[in-house]
Amino acid sequence: MVNVQRKQSKTLLTKASGFLEGYSHTLNPYTGCAFACSYCYVRQMPVALFRSGEAWGTWVDVKENAPALLAKELARAQSKGPVTIFFSSATDPYQPIEYKERITRSLLEVMSVQQPDFLFVQTRSPLVTRDADLLQLLGERVRVSMTVETDREEIRRAFTPSAPPIAARLEALRELAARGIPVQATIAPALPCSDGFAERLAGIVDRVCIDDYFMGDGGGGKRTERIGVRTIYDALELSDWYSRDAYLRVHEQLLRHFPQERVFVSQAGFLP
Ligand code: SF4
Repeated sequence: MVNVQRKQSKTLLTKASGFLEGYSHTLNPYTGCAFACSYCYVRQMPVALFRSGEAWGTWVDVKENAPALLAKELARAQSKGPVTIFFSSATDPYQPIEYKERITRSLLEVMSVQQPDFLFVQTRSPLVTRDADLLQLLGERVRVSMTVETDREEIRRAFTPSAPPIAARLEALRELAARGIPVQATIAPALPCSDGFAERLAGIVDRVCIDDYFMGDGGGGKRTERIGVRTIYDALELSDWYSRDAYLRVHEQLLRHFPQERVFVSQAGFLP
């Protein structure tokens, strides 16, 4: 059961930094995330650590006034220079509650009129296909990055039991691509997968990104170590996949099925 609360935000667009410094801003329509991924690096960030008495993944705050705020803040930011937005850095913009709340959809409505120079939509939910009509309006100014960490559903369930099934994500990518929306499959973090993973992806997308804890958790793998994700690998007897080199197995597969310039590693795959 997820505790959902409605809140009024004071600000919405945040200056991007660190891993996302290629962007001018990040945009989070919700605080918290019901997908509760075991490896989520946000667990180690102040937003999660200082939430008293509630574990990460059990609460979501809806930023009720986000669309009105965005219209105002976007106009101000655009008067100062190019605006490139990472959507979202500390939640998934397609939370289960988004089916009902439609905050993300309202934000896309704003951005389809006041278009940013570039919008990167990072999600793991097939709900993104609901908004294909709005995403299409952004043309080449948008990219939808769908997290697909593995093609093995039992592995997905072990690491992210509350997240959408892999098959539904692949279907969503197929649908968005068919509608002409720029997409990428994002293998982040690279989890244990089958030998046919890259081939399967190649039939759906023409661009992939791969990342792991050591390159992408913002702490050289230390954040992930503190979260204790290693115990899941141990329980599955797949500890050899928890290493700095493990992603290379998947990377090699990808290079057999995609042109090298369409295979992005870590930060490069998330840049505008
Ligand atoms: S979907 Fe993203 S923000 Fe949400 S728990 Fe998973 S990794 Fe964290």
